Amino acid sequence: MQGGHSEVTSGEVTKEKVGCLLCAQQFDVMEMQDDLLRHLLLQHKLVIADVKLVAHFKKYLDYWRQRFKDAAITEFCSVIKTNTKETDVEPEESYYLLCDALPEDKNLRVRLQQEKLHFDGSSVYVRILAAAPKKTLQFTMSLL
Ligand SMILES: [Zn+2]
Repeated sequence: MQGGHSEVTSGEVTKEKVGCLLCAQQFDVMEMQDDLLRHLLLQHKLVIADVKLVAHFKKYLDYWRQRFKDAAITEFCSVIKTNTKETDVEPEESYYLLCDALPEDKNLRVRLQQEKLHFDGSSVYVRILAAAPKKTLQFTMSLL
């Protein structure tokens, strides 16, 4: 008798939409991240490396959507060629890898990570306080 996903539909966060980096298609940012990644791979041959480590996926996408308007995808992505051996029957294909080997991507990931830490700061703080000895607790509270 569990409700499953359907009960978690209230609240604005779950309804937030995010557009594809390279076309007009929209995806639900919370529930359809995998669909978006699949879409990027199949439609645009774009792979985002270590996507689980991106602290704020929507902001990450917003950033790159703007950048991809200004310049070709090959300016930012490593190109991976498949089926390059002579024995390969399938035609050669190029995939684009967006990863933190690019300094701009690395900087963005670090910045989003820091923003997230800042944003979640209060709950992190509570956890630290709860775990702290009493003396430390009084000290840190006077800083607030
Ligand atoms: Zn697209």
